[in-house]
Amino acid sequence: MKDYPTKITFGQMRETGATSIIVFCKDYRCSHNVTMDASRWPDEMRLSDLEPRFTCTVCGQRGSSIRSIDVPAKMGTGR
Ligand SMILES: [Zn+2]
Repeated sequence: MKDYPTKITFGQMRETGATSIIVFCKDYRCSHNVTMDASRWPDEMRLSDLEPRFTCTVCGQRGSSIRSIDVPAKMGTGR
């Protein structure tokens, strides 16, 4: 298990406005995924630090692939 490319930190992610992550099963044949509120993790933690910590609840595969959920650009200016 070595292929966890370095990813951005939660702090960097929050700077983009994203507040949630989606965690994918490491096994692409399973592709179970779950969205989670990112507020429980500290700013200095990297998404890639968290990936090995998840175990799939469906197939039992250890490890995961995590992406931030981008916030859609807000439409209009509100004025
Ligand atoms: Zn799985």
